[in-house]
Order: sequence, then C-alpha cells, then structure tokens
Amino acid sequence: MQWQFDKPMHLPQLAPTVWEFCWHNVAALCIFDFEYFVWHSTHHKVRFLYKHVHGVHHQYHAPNSWVTQYLHPWELISVGIFTATSPRIFGAHPLTYIAFQQFSIIVSVEAHIGYDLPFEMHHYLPFWGGSIKHDMHHQKPLTNFAPFYNWWDQIFGWYCPGQLAGGYKPKALLDWEKKEKIRQEKRRAKRLGYTETNGDVSSNGVHSNGVSNGHTPQSNGVANGKAY
Ligand SMILES: [Zn+2]
Ligand SMILES: [Zn+2]
Repeated sequence: MQWQFDKPMHLPQLAPTVWEFCWHNVAALCIFDFEYFVWHSTHHKVRFLYKHVHGVHHQYHAPNSWVTQYLHPWELISVGIFTATSPRIFGAHPLTYIAFQQFSIIVSVEAHIGYDLPFEMHHYLPFWGGSIKHDMHHQKPLTNFAPFYNWWDQIFGWYCPGQLAGGYKPKALLDWEKKEKIRQEKRRAKRLGYTETNGDVSSNGVHSNGVSNGHTPQSNGVANGKAY
C-alpha cells in the first residue's frame, strides 16, 4: 500500500530531458535516503518508538520481499510522505515524479529480498546499501540505518559490511565483527566497574579484549535482546 495526499497535477506537453530525468531521480533518492535515515535511527534509539512503532518491522530477523511493507501504520504514512514529497522539493517533472515512486518501491523491495544476486547494484556501487546491508540491519538492528546509500552510516559509525551469497563473510565483515567484539567487551567491563590500568588488562586481572570469566561478549543489539 502506498499512501499519499496529492493535489491536481499540471501535465507539461514535453517530457523531461534524459539528463534531468536521471539526476532528479538520483537527487530524490538522496533526499529520501536522508529523511528515512533520520526517521529510522530515531526509531531505534528511542525505546518507546522502537517498541510501539518500528519494532513491528523487526519481527522478521531474516527478511523477504513481503517484509518491505510489513510496517506499523505510522511508518507506512511516514514513508509515503517522504516518497511523495522528495521529488517535489526541486519541482521534478510529473513523469520523473511517477517514475521515482516506482523506482523507490523497487529498491525498497530489493533491499528485503534476502538474496545476494550477481546483478544487484551493491556489487558495482560501493556506496549502495542493497539487500546484503539491509539484511545485516535485520540481523544487527543497530547498524545500517540508511535505506539506499551507506554514506550516512559510514559518517556516524553505524555501518556494517554485508554477508555475501552462501553465508560467505568477506574480510571487511570479519574485521567489523572482531572490532565489535572488543567494543562490547569493553562496554561490559565498564558496566561491571572494571578499570583498565595498562592497556588491555583490568585491575582485577580480567582481559578486556576478548572473553572473560567464561562469558562470550555479545556482538550486537540482537544478541542481548536490544534493538534500540
Ligand atoms: Zn527492513
Ligand atoms: Zn530498523
């Protein structure tokens, strides 16, 4: 379901140029990407919003294409408003506007298919999120908040590389998991009141860079039940 409020549209006689059509679509995706990034991260960071709104979408840890629209009504309305208004900000041609609606639906579904297919854009555009990054968001909900591109997550330190076809973990993901393990262990040690004295050894002899006291550090928000 796509919700939108619209007023009668003026239809120009001429179609937009190819250049205008392309850059307006890319620009509208950038605007939508930023708007949803802010909305999405806020709905993970604020416990109430996650619990009562966005958590509905996260009932699926391994998404499929139908999960794209498995949303709380408020999320559906928000996404509808972002999609309907993004190309209007710079007065896009109605043809561009309608094409953008279809394009944004296609890329949203593609993000949820749960497959790493050889023709998907993330193989060719390093800044593109795509299915493998959003799949990781459903596995590790405190990462990869941006829907299409990944530069906002890179800037804010919330980026997590994706897992490839067949469950293959690329080096970037293995490195990310190693760093995350250390980060979580340090956080846990801090919570328990350990103080580091000389690098990686705490005052009571517990190592802060790995497993301590027989406990395995949690690697993300899902593992310990937290997704906000
Ligand atoms: Zn999703
Ligand atoms: Zn989410």
